[in-house]
Amino acid sequence: MINNRNTGPTPLPPSVLIAMAQQPLSHRSMAFREAFTEVTAQLAKLVNATEPALLLSCSGTGGLEASIASIVNIESRVLVLTAGNYGDLLARIAGRFTANLNVVRFAPGESFDLSVLQTHLMQASYDVVLLTHSESSTGIYHPVASVITVIRAFSDALVLVDTISSLGATPIDMAAWDADVLVGATQKGLMAPAGMAVVYLSIRAQHYIEQYPDNHTYMHLRPWLEASRQHSVPYTPAVNVFQGLQAAMELIFAEGLPDRYQRHQKASSRCRSFFADSNHVRCFAAPQYASHSITALYLSDALSASVIKKRLEDEHHIMLSTGLGPLKERVIRIGHMGHFTLTEIDDALLIVSNVISQEKSAYGD
Ligand SMILES: *Cc1c(COP(=O)(O)O)cnc(C)c1O
Repeated sequence: MINNRNTGPTPLPPSVLIAMAQQPLSHRSMAFREAFTEVTAQLAKLVNATEPALLLSCSGTGGLEASIASIVNIESRVLVLTAGNYGDLLARIAGRFTANLNVVRFAPGESFDLSVLQTHLMQASYDVVLLTHSESSTGIYHPVASVITVIRAFSDALVLVDTISSLGATPIDMAAWDADVLVGATQKGLMAPAGMAVVYLSIRAQHYIEQYPDNHTYMHLRPWLEASRQHSVPYTPAVNVFQGLQAAMELIFAEGLPDRYQRHQKASSRCRSFFADSNHVRCFAAPQYASHSITALYLSDALSASVIKKRLEDEHHIMLSTGLGPLKERVIRIGHMGHFTLTEIDDALLIVSNVISQEKSAYGD
């Protein structure tokens, strides 16, 4: 048995696999329309969104690109908050659409300093602010509600939040957050197959997007928004992915959101307490920002993330993820999103710590 603790795509429940293996519905059929209406409403309920979700056939990054392309133009002044790889991704995408970009960087492993944010908002005005909720590279949940409260005190910018690795794993309240765009993906906390992006728009974001009636590029939200009003999609969707998602949404609500979120929170706290006294690794995120989706462990200097990853795979059938970018060798990341049991987490932790100890002694200390 493989214990798949990757950070995505995450393991799929049997009923999701079975749903995917059925013949594809015609996306113009009544059956698809009914299923689409239900799934997009369930997705909205999941995050307390006022409007049904849009479902794009692309991975999460495609959802980010389409959303940013739809709210950022060449004249937009954009503020990007980043403390890691995925915050940087937002800056890279936005940089293709405007040169008026202020990228405010915080150290990886830390969250955003709200007084620094406040200073930036006082010094300049912005049309759009981009940030990540779950920074998957460092295992941090940024305090989005507090961040947006600060933004709203100084600015009426449209606020886009990448919730790709938090959607389905932890409570998200789009209305209470007062966010304008949330972007998720199917293959992480939703325990659905890879291949669709979930985009939520506030009424304000919808009005903004509707100003551009002539935009027909595939990666622009306007056609998706128009079609969604008819409970449909503008182009042939990834139908079998959708069918898997439909089965996953059924399971998510059958488990119940409080129980589901508690299971993720427990997985995170087990990972953290397991390594709390370790001399070889430390939990990268400060406790108040610890992600419930992914635990990132920062390795002491003599350890190599790729060696540990390979040994876990080859010798123990445990899969996990190394760090990203400059943190590649310094960080290992344990995914606990979607379809998992706490027993699987406990089993993995024991073996991960054994392998780390063996690697450490191989280096003679
Ligand atoms: C996985 C991830 C992405 C990229 O999503 P893809 O579906 O691989 O395109 C972006 N942002 C965050 C926070 C992620 O965890």
